[in-house]
Amino acid sequence: MKFGIDIGHNCPPDTGARGIRVEDNLTLDVGNRVIEKLKALGHEVIPCKPSSANSVKDSLSQRVNKANANRVELYVSIHFNSFNAQANGTEVFVGSDASKKYAKPVLDEIIKLGFFNRGVKSGSHLFVLRNTNMPAILVEGCFVDSQKDMNLYNAEALANAIVKGLTGQLPTSPVNPVPDEEQNVDTTTLRLQKALNRLKITDKNGKPLVEDNMLGEITSSAVENFQKIVGIAPSGVANTATWNAINLILAKRIIRPNHAGGTVVRYLQYRVGVDNDGVYGPQTEAAIKKFQQQNGLTADGIVGPNSWQKLIG
Ligand SMILES: [Zn+2]
Repeated sequence: MKFGIDIGHNCPPDTGARGIRVEDNLTLDVGNRVIEKLKALGHEVIPCKPSSANSVKDSLSQRVNKANANRVELYVSIHFNSFNAQANGTEVFVGSDASKKYAKPVLDEIIKLGFFNRGVKSGSHLFVLRNTNMPAILVEGCFVDSQKDMNLYNAEALANAIVKGLTGQLPTSPVNPVPDEEQNVDTTTLRLQKALNRLKITDKNGKPLVEDNMLGEITSSAVENFQKIVGIAPSGVANTATWNAINLILAKRIIRPNHAGGTVVRYLQYRVGVDNDGVYGPQTEAAIKKFQQQNGLTADGIVGPNSWQKLIG
């Protein structure tokens, strides 16, 4: 059978949920194992995750286009949930009734691992299910913010369950075993350090961060600097609001003078050295134009792709 396997997120600004663990790390770990196991059983696999995208919409469109262009027989998107630390369990979304026969066995296999059965659900609101031309399912493996689920979580077992559900075949052990996500190192801090460096946010000594995946006082001081810049309560902890702000800036939306202000405008003001008031007024416009001029760009005050390239690469 020809499968389109879509490893959820992992394509900034398309990033996933965060809880006790990070959805991106889990979808990648489970997804790569599913791909290898399907191939080992003799199936054809088209990996659908793009390597880069300009926006979340672009990321999702590329996934759908890959599946449609390759005429896969079944599209499987792998995700993990996050809600309120209490909710837990597994659910599988389907784009149409025709997809239910694929969803049910996958769900049945996963709940054998001990997860609560949240059922097969209609996913007609989900972009990737709505726009793929073939039967399509989206697996929400479990909740990354549930301690119960994270205690049960095991990438190898989950991948085996998905493959068994999809094919009815018992997966064989991979010839080249997939390393266990580097002994479960959480790469959150490394991602944070990379993101802050890309945004040219410095630590309390005015220096870029060392990208060592070590969360300490220095990285916290850079987080705090960033929070002050974008107007978040400066806690030094990279909470959801902080990551949302980072992702919002990395999305590189076009910003025009008199633009409704907020996070991105405050960030731009920091970069061009004007007061952080979040309003794109005349003073900010003059500073942006000066920045554009200094960088050989058209000095129109509109922060578009070329200006963003100079600002954050
Ligand atoms: Zn997701």
